[in-house]
Amino acid sequence: MQKESCVFCRIARHESPATVLYEDDLVVAFEDIHPFMPVHVLVVPKQHYDGLDDDVPEQVLGRCLRVAADLAREKGLERGYRLQVNTGVDGGQTVRHLHLHVLGGGRMPSPEL
Ligand code: C5P
Repeated sequence: MQKESCVFCRIARHESPATVLYEDDLVVAFEDIHPFMPVHVLVVPKQHYDGLDDDVPEQVLGRCLRVAADLAREKGLERGYRLQVNTGVDGGQTVRHLHLHVLGGGRMPSPEL
């Protein structure tokens, strides 16, 4: 299922602009429009799931991780990177469609409380 009003559903349908780096039957990956690291890519299921707190199939979760790791390699992040999934209000999630942040290209700050 997709949501008409959801920005990531619209990107997955190519109805909203994004710099798409990868796409297959399950996921789409694109550059974050407000990067906070030199490499900041979002990996997003094409189907709409609100977040990790939704009932997300393992196949979708696995594909997201696989694509994130492959893109990190393609982006030359051999020194390391961070995957981040903000979940819900307390997790700082602003777009209520599951997405993985792939962050790298510099030393990540320690997670702050
Ligand atoms: O995890 P959170 O929900 O806070 O992150 C949403 C991310 O989606 C932000 O980093 C924001 O810059 C990005 N975004 C985007 N393209 C949009 C809308 C949001 O890359 N059209």
